[in-house]
Amino acid sequence: MNDYISKEFGINRDLLGLAEEIECELTSDFSYVESRTFYHQAKVLKAFQNSNVSDIHFAWNTGYGYDDSGRDAVERVFADVFGGEKALVRPNIVNGTHAISLALLGLLKRGDKLIYCTGAPYDTLQSVTGYYSSEKPSDESYTGTLKDLGIKYQEVELLPDGRIDLDALKDALDDSVKMVAIQRSKGYKLRNSISSKQISEVSDLVHGFGRHITIMVDNCYCEFVDEEEPLDAGADIICGSLIKNPGGGLALSGGYLCGKADLIDLISYRLTCPGIGGECGLTFGQNRAVLEGLFQAPRVTAGALKGAVLCSKVFDRLGFEVFPHASSDIKDRSDIIQAVKLNTPEALMEFCRGIQAAAPIDSHVTPVPAPMPGYDDDIIMAAGAFVQGSSIELSADGPLREPYVAYFQGGLTYEHSKIGVLMAAQYLINAGLVRL
Ligand SMILES: *Cc1c(COP(=O)(O)O)cnc(C)c1O
Repeated sequence: MNDYISKEFGINRDLLGLAEEIECELTSDFSYVESRTFYHQAKVLKAFQNSNVSDIHFAWNTGYGYDDSGRDAVERVFADVFGGEKALVRPNIVNGTHAISLALLGLLKRGDKLIYCTGAPYDTLQSVTGYYSSEKPSDESYTGTLKDLGIKYQEVELLPDGRIDLDALKDALDDSVKMVAIQRSKGYKLRNSISSKQISEVSDLVHGFGRHITIMVDNCYCEFVDEEEPLDAGADIICGSLIKNPGGGLALSGGYLCGKADLIDLISYRLTCPGIGGECGLTFGQNRAVLEGLFQAPRVTAGALKGAVLCSKVFDRLGFEVFPHASSDIKDRSDIIQAVKLNTPEALMEFCRGIQAAAPIDSHVTPVPAPMPGYDDDIIMAAGAFVQGSSIELSADGPLREPYVAYFQGGLTYEHSKIGVLMAAQYLINAGLVRL
């Protein structure tokens, strides 16, 4: 078998051998992932059964999308799986950024303060805040950012060990604070993800403040990784993308929000308009794919998580710094992202080219760094996916800035994720940037 892989993909035998050796070391980590996946799969199955999902829910209508029972079923199942009272799951929420900004713009009013307690948010969210632009708010520069709308904003930095600084957060709470936001996954940073245990600690602190403050969690890449989801840990609202973990690789597009019913209603008025909210909105035939994707999501996420762990070990052996560290406990991972610090632009590009060469779609193209909407630096992205930009599928990307970190994620199957890891390593070897 290794002869075939070595011949057809040009992967060095020693590298294949190294991967097998590492897999032996990972037996207990992998079985831990499997047992957690069994639990998540059972939870998802139960949610389908609780909602009496039936094949009538695969049908769809036209126009306004009134009385789309499939859409209602999708949203009931999501709410059940993630422990919320209500959910908004729509193909016309265009991405994760849109879902998160709906929560911000739907719930915050002039004079309210938002605190991000996990430091600076993901690049595209920085644009939503408006506080990263040096322009003074004016009629000419108005785009409806938080700053333009008179919503106050503060960040509480993470502690040096990557945990949430509860003391600093406590000091930052005052009567103007309306929302505390937690970004679980690292984005383009070198830090650990935020566990559901830390979310409970924030929840105890913030909900103990006296007046109700909404806790919003950016749950991108974290669904089905920890045992508990953020709403079970005390958060009020979670947001994410359907072309990451919960879409299971099958959803064609979309985002979700889930949590307290009154909050979801307010957000639905922002998504469509006051008075209409979630009662309208065509699903364009997506209900079946979204449901099947959610059903497969625990298994797909498990494969991606195992691939991330393999990636950390392989690149650690090759002498690179990796986050989470190769020695870190599997129980401390709350997302599927593996960061590899490659130190030079050449190495970052070779890594991404290796991932691209391992793709089922567009394996013949060469990724090059380019500007992207919402991002300040040029970004290189390797993605040969069935769904454009889907990062639950095998992918890697990184901004062209020091220290040249590749963010590796996905793989619809563990086996594909493994081929991706090996191709990325092989490209670095072939370019003479590392020796086995
Ligand atoms: C992916 C991601 C987002 C949203 O990104 P989109 O590309 O807009 O879906 C937000 N926050 C984090 C931490 C992410 O990883």
